[in-house]
Amino acid sequence: EGPRKYLIGGNWKCNGDWDASIDRVTMFNGCGDIPANVEVVLCVSDIYIPMLLQSIRTDIAVGGQNCGVNKSCGACTGETGSHQLKAIGCTWVIVGHSERREGFGMAGETVGLCAEKCKVALDNGLSVMFAIGEKKEERENGTTMDVCASQLAPLAKILDAKDWEKVAIAYEPVWAIGTGLTATPEMAQETHKNIRDWVSTNVSPEIAEAVRIQYGGSMKGANAKDLLAQPDIDGGLIGGASLKDDFFNVINGVP
Ligand code: PEP
Repeated sequence: EGPRKYLIGGNWKCNGDWDASIDRVTMFNGCGDIPANVEVVLCVSDIYIPMLLQSIRTDIAVGGQNCGVNKSCGACTGETGSHQLKAIGCTWVIVGHSERREGFGMAGETVGLCAEKCKVALDNGLSVMFAIGEKKEERENGTTMDVCASQLAPLAKILDAKDWEKVAIAYEPVWAIGTGLTATPEMAQETHKNIRDWVSTNVSPEIAEAVRIQYGGSMKGANAKDLLAQPDIDGGLIGGASLKDDFFNVINGVP
């Protein structure tokens, strides 16, 4: 067992309707024990959050998939504020998922906006899975770590040491998300180590040692064990496999 508690996040994205969501909750409630060295959180569409908070097993936390950059109530039509996620009972939120950075054909979220959202969410009492990662062409031209650093730098600038206690970095190579392509455990470990080294140099060695770095990108029961065995992989952020009971194979794949 490593120095950090494992963090397994599920990201349902926009998949499924009300009935499908209830069915998944029922399925997970019957999935057996969660190992003591694992923290589990499910991030679902805002409209399903109250249902999960009321009916999912208490050893699975509930979080949002995004939040506004607004600090409190105000003129932000269509946003869900982190203060609202907190008030309803969420403990986590994903910030900076690559799909949001990309923007769905609209202007995507900038590195600065993602950092600011993270800070506001932390100030409002949530923990944050802060997603970073390179695209296929960036990996191919050798700029993976430049991209990760450019996404982390604005965050390092505005967070103080205390903030980092409630941040997990979700390293998600964009080319591996939803594609069935997974980084090999060695490739993922190399980047996780580089990210931890970056945090050590640019934030502090203590925070680098403590911060959890999750892997995301087509992680599933069949590959989780090998990924989670790597020394700098402290968990996962799981999309597709979190819709099925295979999510529990990931959870049970921790060393
Ligand atoms: C994700 O959405 O963060 C993700 C990693 O998706 P998938 O597991 O489906 O690749």
